[in-house]
Amino acid sequence: MRVLLLGGGGREHALALGLCADPAVEGLIAAPGNPGIAGVAELRAVDGADPAAVAALAVETRADLVVIGPEGPLVAGVADAVRAKGIAAFGPSAEAARLEGSKTFAKDVMTAAGVPTARAYTCADEASTAAALDEFGPPYVVKNDGLAAGKGVVVTDDRAAALAHAAECGRVVVEEYLAGPEVSLFVVTDGEAAVPLLPAQDFKRVGDGDAGPNTGGMGAYAPLPWAPSGLVDEVMADVVHPTLAEMRRRGTPFAGLLYVGLAMTAAGPRVIEFNARFGDPETQVVLALLETPLGGLLHAAATGTLADHPPLRWRDGAAVTVVVAADNYPGTPRTGDVITGADRPGVIHAGTARRAADGALLSAGGRVVCGTATGPTLAAARDAAYALVGGIGLAGAQHRTDIAAAAVDGRITIPR
Ligand code: AMP
Repeated sequence: MRVLLLGGGGREHALALGLCADPAVEGLIAAPGNPGIAGVAELRAVDGADPAAVAALAVETRADLVVIGPEGPLVAGVADAVRAKGIAAFGPSAEAARLEGSKTFAKDVMTAAGVPTARAYTCADEASTAAALDEFGPPYVVKNDGLAAGKGVVVTDDRAAALAHAAECGRVVVEEYLAGPEVSLFVVTDGEAAVPLLPAQDFKRVGDGDAGPNTGGMGAYAPLPWAPSGLVDEVMADVVHPTLAEMRRRGTPFAGLLYVGLAMTAAGPRVIEFNARFGDPETQVVLALLETPLGGLLHAAATGTLADHPPLRWRDGAAVTVVVAADNYPGTPRTGDVITGADRPGVIHAGTARRAADGALLSAGGRVVCGTATGPTLAAARDAAYALVGGIGLAGAQHRTDIAAAAVDGRITIPR
């Protein structure tokens, strides 16, 4: 099988490592890829937002499967364009990707499917926003209705800041605050059959102790030692299958990766958000533990044969990833600095580039690299991930020092 992988971040580097470890994958092409992915794939340039260009590249590279990493191309209709050429695509249609592309659409589907989630209002002017904020009270949750690369959400006690974010976004979803630890559950689906991966937890805030603004994600670990034993079955029954059934009922089945972001509240798991693709950086830890060949699994989902796929096999132990971010991230990051120590197994490239003149590795994004490690215990995986991060040299770099710490220490509790 020849696979074309679309994207160039840390998630795609992790997907590339998984795909090239699958003996059924004979050729891996990544577009645009990154310097880390270049070690395991042939890189091609493409505009991921241009469905016709991606479909043409899939034909030209004789791909049997196109794996679409980021949400932008999905919402733009890349999966539809690839399938129209008769090539299997892992990723939902543009219509189905609205589960991520529009918070209002996602809320509609959840309501119709009876999925437990936060109460919410869509607001497009100051008066309705203010009324919604006052109904729910602080902490206020205001979400940009459109795609915002994981950074469109403001959670704050400051009513004026909540109103200001709404004014900046135009159309927002204001919702009730959900208190409780968060879980990311990835589900591979062909629209009907659905296979959950291991639950993971990510760290959205930039600073230790969850201080500072939201980011694309500063680290992750899996599995979750504190999660109730029936959690995955419960979420599959109460969230995933009803959502997939509602999408089929609407004539827009969702096939690809359904990312369920949950809060473990006193009233039970509640959906915070859906995404239409693998999460970054949770993918790095989940795939580090997946023993089942990745290409075969994604191909089964892309070809409607997931019901026949054998049960997943997982490695023992745990995985932790810690993101090394550029100075000033999640504001406009400082880029163009030389990175050292990144050419080691376990260092995933997220925002890197090669300098043409001398091949030096440079920072080229907010999240630059991640140190990803496995270990027999969560504590061992954590130590190993931080050892990788300690070996990275990058001027002005920042990373959280508390990734997976509360889980290792048994300090995570679900409210009662
Ligand atoms: P989202 O982009 O919807 O995942 O939101 C980003 C982050 O904001 C989530 O991971 C949560 O940490 C936080 N968040 C979003 N919605 C809520 C909510 N209703 N209650 C509490 N926190 C939330």
